[in-house]
Amino acid sequence: MHKNFKGVEKTVFGRGSFSQLKEIVEERRSENDGFILYIVDNYFKGKDLEKRIPAGPKDIVTFMDVDPEEPTTQQVDELRDGIKNSKGIPAAVVAIGGGSIMDLAKAVSLMFTNEGSSVKYQGLNLITKPGVYHIGVPTISGTGAEVSMTAVLTGPEKKLGLKCEWTVFNQIVLDPELIASVPRDKWFYTGMDTYIHCIESRDGILNNTYSTAYGEQSLALCRDIYLGEKSGQTKENDEKLMVTSMMGGLSLTYSEVGIVHAMSYGLSKILGEKHCYANCIAFQHLGDYYPEGVAEFKEMVRKHKINLPTGLSKKWSEETISAMANVSIRLEHMWNHAIGTDWKTKVNVDTVKDLFRRL
Ligand code: NAD
Ligand code: ZN
Repeated sequence: MHKNFKGVEKTVFGRGSFSQLKEIVEERRSENDGFILYIVDNYFKGKDLEKRIPAGPKDIVTFMDVDPEEPTTQQVDELRDGIKNSKGIPAAVVAIGGGSIMDLAKAVSLMFTNEGSSVKYQGLNLITKPGVYHIGVPTISGTGAEVSMTAVLTGPEKKLGLKCEWTVFNQIVLDPELIASVPRDKWFYTGMDTYIHCIESRDGILNNTYSTAYGEQSLALCRDIYLGEKSGQTKENDEKLMVTSMMGGLSLTYSEVGIVHAMSYGLSKILGEKHCYANCIAFQHLGDYYPEGVAEFKEMVRKHKINLPTGLSKKWSEETISAMANVSIRLEHMWNHAIGTDWKTKVNVDTVKDLFRRL
């Protein structure tokens, strides 16, 4: 069976395109209870962008802190319940922020129309009704959350996405001006998420012409941004990075991620490490699985003088390592893609524990 996936319906790309948000939301105004819900990264509170949010008197602008936690099922449920009980169902939900805010908004949009806690929808195709019209405005690039079919949430038992066709944004606004203020370390880690998506989607059994075409173009742009003569956080590179993130996301959507993401989920779930940073921490030690990718990644780390910690596992207890390995090995589709259909004959929980001991 080949994947039959849904893409974003509408995309606007270009410097200053944030100004078009007003007319985009006005087109939805007559739906549901007629107000717009803006979910905005707390970083923008008091910044110029706050003044540019086209909120009318009936609209809600809610600022959310995304550090240090990743979005949780509890945050989603509380936000939905508070708004539904006081004002009803919004005409549209707008996310202004990175992967954390975008995933939160995607999930909230679905939970306005699907009853009960978001915990019960963590998984594939468990959602039964389409959500409220939702719009993604990324302000940091790399995760590909702007084009993906999943809203990753940390729940009481698992860190797992609400994954279905209706999760995908109806509209995205890609304005490279919005990512100019990203601090250099986050610019690196988050950009590397897309680099790793492309390497992992390529180096596995589900690789195919469609995912490779997006992946190769995304990798070429990554090389310009992080290794080229004009590498660094420039206007031109910010434009490239926004497209790179989107293409890396499309590459992995039509293939799969692998060992880095399997380990990263363990690091996030058990130690609370952020997704992109956790990927980088793990990727540097996986040269035997991804030789070319890791070699090039290390060049980028050196070029941008990024300090990636090593020797972390010395401070971890046996329980912590076991817990991370158990989270990781349950992501069977990732191991299957990376190692092959006979992966269970090559990898067991002790193999994965040894991988964590490398960190
Ligand atoms: P994020 O949303 O977690 O934000 C990272 C940091 O950057 C925060 O401190 C934030 O305040 C700051 N920031 C954002 N925009 C900024 C700006 N313009 N200027 C200054 N600071 C800014 O970042 P992320 O790495 O994009 O997202 C990580 C999340 O994405 C994780 O929760 C992960 O699980 C999720 N994720 C989702 C998918 C998906 O397909 N849905 C894929 C990968 C990761
Ligand atoms: Zn990722």
